[in-house]
Amino acid sequence: MQRVIDEMAKAKNDVERRLRQYIPEIIRECMAFGYLKKNFTFDVSDLSDRVNARLIALSDAILDDIESRAKWAISYAEEEDDEEAILLYIKRKIGEEDIVQRLDKHCSTLRYFLEGWIAIGMVNKLKEYELTNNILSYIDNPFASPLWQEAFNAGYYSTAIRSRGYSYGKGNQRNVLSALTEIERYAINEAFQYGRLLHYGKTGAIGYIIHRGSSYDCPHCDSNCGFVIPLNDIRLPQHNRCVCWSEPIFSQ
Ligand SMILES: [Zn+2]
Repeated sequence: MQRVIDEMAKAKNDVERRLRQYIPEIIRECMAFGYLKKNFTFDVSDLSDRVNARLIALSDAILDDIESRAKWAISYAEEEDDEEAILLYIKRKIGEEDIVQRLDKHCSTLRYFLEGWIAIGMVNKLKEYELTNNILSYIDNPFASPLWQEAFNAGYYSTAIRSRGYSYGKGNQRNVLSALTEIERYAINEAFQYGRLLHYGKTGAIGYIIHRGSSYDCPHCDSNCGFVIPLNDIRLPQHNRCVCWSEPIFSQ
């Protein structure tokens, strides 16, 4: 389990690296429209399509990272034979959305804020790297940035600025970095946990027991420990931060 936790711990860096790669690419696409300044939006010429193409590439790149770390998790679960099935499992629909739709949703949130950020960058004559650093510094909440506070009263066209965030999608996580990181972490953990259960099945186990992997207070995780669970009842990970692990049970 520790090796999987180590793999999960790399998710934030993966996502940040991808954002540092793709945000400047999107800024560059917008350069030709720098003269629009406060009037800048993505709805000019074919810019919107080009920005969307870069965001899809970002989402794809994160999915690639997820799959390559999930493959490590599958090898730690000693279940390489079922790699393909496990990768399909982690990409399955949870609720209404599969993994690509979940990634795309957060990339759309990024788009919403980027449009405002890029207009602010044009008005303040920020260099590409300065703007990228600003975006990442305030990724948890762009509205907290002094540049955004200044922009709110300056008559910008961008939806996010004009509406002061009121048009922001309900139920969406504002922090794109942490939202994307959670998806990656969870998928890596799922690949390992599901792989373990498949592996137990092949070794003749009749079920499994869950053990807590950390001591932080979690009544939900506690309530699933200490009794035998059938192998087809997949309960791990129990939530985003869960680091519980399983042990196979064989009949006496
Ligand atoms: Zn847990």
